[in-house]
Amino acid sequence: MRDLTAELVEKLDSKNATACYRVLYDGQCEICQACVAWLKTLDADNKTICLPITADALTEVDSRLKMEDCLRQLHVVTPAGEIRVGWDAVACLARLFPSTWLIGVLGARFPFRNLGRLIYGFVARNRYVLSKCRGGACRVARPETVRRQARLGAFWSCYTLGFFIRLPLVMWAGVTTATQRLSVFSRTYHRRLELLNGKLTILFLDGMLPNAVPVLFGELFTTIIYDGVAVDPGSPKMRRSLAHHLRQTTPKITKIIATHAHEEHVGNLNWLSNATGAPIYVSEMTSQFLRPFKKLPWVRSLIIGQPPDLRPPFQLLKQTVETLSTYLQVIATPGHCDDHVVLYDPKEKVLLAGDAFMGSYFATPNPDVDSRKWLVSLERVLELNIEILVEGHGHIHTLRKDIPDFPGVVIRQDPKAAISEKLDYLRWLREQIEAGFQEHLPTRVVEATCFPWGRRTSWESCATDECIRLLSLGHFSRTELVRSFVRTNRDPLPTVYEARMSAGE
Ligand SMILES: [Zn+2]
Repeated sequence: MRDLTAELVEKLDSKNATACYRVLYDGQCEICQACVAWLKTLDADNKTICLPITADALTEVDSRLKMEDCLRQLHVVTPAGEIRVGWDAVACLARLFPSTWLIGVLGARFPFRNLGRLIYGFVARNRYVLSKCRGGACRVARPETVRRQARLGAFWSCYTLGFFIRLPLVMWAGVTTATQRLSVFSRTYHRRLELLNGKLTILFLDGMLPNAVPVLFGELFTTIIYDGVAVDPGSPKMRRSLAHHLRQTTPKITKIIATHAHEEHVGNLNWLSNATGAPIYVSEMTSQFLRPFKKLPWVRSLIIGQPPDLRPPFQLLKQTVETLSTYLQVIATPGHCDDHVVLYDPKEKVLLAGDAFMGSYFATPNPDVDSRKWLVSLERVLELNIEILVEGHGHIHTLRKDIPDFPGVVIRQDPKAAISEKLDYLRWLREQIEAGFQEHLPTRVVEATCFPWGRRTSWESCATDECIRLLSLGHFSRTELVRSFVRTNRDPLPTVYEARMSAGE
């Protein structure tokens, strides 16, 4: 968790802060948090800075502000240095944006001003009753008092209230991301991306039912060819599109590697080996998972396809693997699943990450994710000098100019910064979950505290996350994210990964 004071100083320094409206809100209050989420959505031009109330924040912003007053109602400091309070602060903010301007103007005049003050006063007086637990975000001002008062009933009323206040935002975010996903899918459909003068080729794979995944959830299916090594050749249901790519001028394939034994990565190992004559390389654990490949749950088997068992000949990966012009380091990165490995080119500073990264924010893991192991693996990966991070599901994180722009695929972000961000997120989750279980909270409550509505990602990805839960029949879900931190050997293991037990864990 970042130091709040540091964050505050950064926020106030980040731009000419006094030229902005500084909004002081109760960071513990679900209603205040919801209003801030709305405000941030409206405020595309960054006219406001929202600051949760702390003693530091108040002195930093304006010495006239008093903690008790600020906790009682909303305070806004205008660029001119005026302090607006309560309903007048709301009306003042509303006037900043075209869609709410009229409310702001009318709200400052009789009789709307009086009516507004009356309603605002009622909500402000009762918000502590409505919102006692603050969705697990009790980190500022008076956490002890709040925790003491909080009962689970209050928690759920507060959490549900937070959800309903944001429902239009949740739905809007769902529609927007769905549109973006459709656009990325159509732009990558049947395509290949040749980068680094042909050293790195991304083949985008598709298949009738597998296409539902990129469209609904944004995970693209790819095979990566790096310096003669084909990585993760897709599932049986993507075989036709892989064959289509092979008929085009595909770079020479001299080796085939699977990063881990998930169905969308390993279904065509033998097929591609027969088609190209290239030998197969997998880690020892992956080979165990693939022989035999356990029966998938029917939804996954229907949509992605049940991979065939791996047939010999195949070779076991060692610490390095030769490529056409150089070599790749093979690094074990358990977490996403126990057998995961990543491939790293130290000369070009390229990391072929498979599923070992999956974006800085990822909330719906498989039942075989172990987030504690994932944390350790990512800490190790962070020690590498990475300039280009290539994910197994079609995203490339890089700042390098020799990788051309491709919106939705190439993400202009320092790969190490992206990994650090994910590490911060995983550590924060670990803290939340450990605290939750120490307090003997039920899993459902712990899950909710990991997605406080005050966090933008919680409501922004809510529609997608719940859609994934529904369509995968609970296989990929926010609940699994919680379970991924508390896995023990006593956990009932999902059918696919029973192999783990036979592997002697
Ligand atoms: Zn995977």
